[in-house]
Amino acid sequence: MEYLIIIIAILVGLGAGGGYLLVSSRRHRRATLPPPKPEPKAPGPAPTDTDERAGAGGGGLDLATEAVAEPAAPEIEVPPPSAGRMVRLRGRLARSQSAFGSVLLGLLSRDSLDDAGWEEIEDTLITADMGVAPARHLVEQLRTEVKVTGSKDVRALLRAQLIEAIGPDMDRSLRVSRHGGRPAVLLMVGVNGTGKTTTCGKLARVLIGDGHTVLLGAADTFRAAAADQLQTWGSRVGAAVVRSDRDGADPASVAFEAVKEGTELSVDTVIIDTAGRLHTKAGLMDELGKIKRVVSRQADVDEVLLVLDATTGQNGLRQARVFAEVVDVTGIVLTKLDGTAKGGIVISVQRELGVPVKLVGLGEGPDDLAPFEPAAFVDAILGS
Ligand code: GDP
Repeated sequence: MEYLIIIIAILVGLGAGGGYLLVSSRRHRRATLPPPKPEPKAPGPAPTDTDERAGAGGGGLDLATEAVAEPAAPEIEVPPPSAGRMVRLRGRLARSQSAFGSVLLGLLSRDSLDDAGWEEIEDTLITADMGVAPARHLVEQLRTEVKVTGSKDVRALLRAQLIEAIGPDMDRSLRVSRHGGRPAVLLMVGVNGTGKTTTCGKLARVLIGDGHTVLLGAADTFRAAAADQLQTWGSRVGAAVVRSDRDGADPASVAFEAVKEGTELSVDTVIIDTAGRLHTKAGLMDELGKIKRVVSRQADVDEVLLVLDATTGQNGLRQARVFAEVVDVTGIVLTKLDGTAKGGIVISVQRELGVPVKLVGLGEGPDDLAPFEPAAFVDAILGS
């Protein structure tokens, strides 16, 4: 009998110990940030208004499911800090430099410029997608300055004019730090194919390289590959990824769960990738509007970054207009600037939307996303 009692006591003790291990493995993972382990989470159904007010939206995570089957830890990369990238990647703007800088400087180095010469300069600026009105304005200013100052250093005058046209004083900082006990939330919007998902991954690297912790939310649930893509980016740098386990899940539900998980994990920044189907303006408005509404029940949406493909010219500007009517865009990410001679789009898109270009994509490599710096950009396209 005594033996029986001892055996029962040992079994009960083991059971309690096992339960503790499940919980502690979860606690341990949370306590060792950064970096959180990348791990897919399956969000529940989209929270209703009532759920959200009651604080029950999005569905909780299954503790037991989470604690089992720890995957072998992938090798975590440490991305380089983002400072000075625009200067380091200046060579990537070679196409703009040859189409824009070389032509302009050739013209400007003439001893004297006649009307036809000034017109050629204006045409070059327009061909670079700068926009007709800004190009005309810039040339008029330049002409006046050359006349008034009698300066022969037209390159320096042009450089100053271009920097001025881009807006050196615009606030290009990203709100990516925690506030009010919650992570900063970034929504990435834009048409599919512009480089949105890639930019989410690259931006996670930028932020992690700069010392932040990041969680990625795969709310582009219409393109199955998007979540896998994000997962790959996340696992390389140790950013957790919240995704749905089925295609076509409600994007707002994934976004909700991402912010909830980001808050629980105490990360600095949650980046949410969204679907960029430009089906109808009303459809887009419904989708992005719902994501924003659902997220803002838990945290502010600090940045809405519109991703535009710089190679698409006027078409890109049309897309920008539609998105700006649907959401409050706070910044522009211009991708594929390495593949175009039309660097002037920086000026036209800012004019169009009245918001700054904050980041630029300068290649397909993981660290080819740079915080935008007007002076470094102008130096790169003018060439030295
Ligand atoms: P999404 O559909 O908007 O999410 O687009 P993806 O992120 O899948 O990107 C589409 C393609 O654009 C991919 O092949 C990317 O590698 C490529 N891409 C993204 N950004 C850049 C960039 O800055 N430069 C270049 N050359 N390619 C880019």
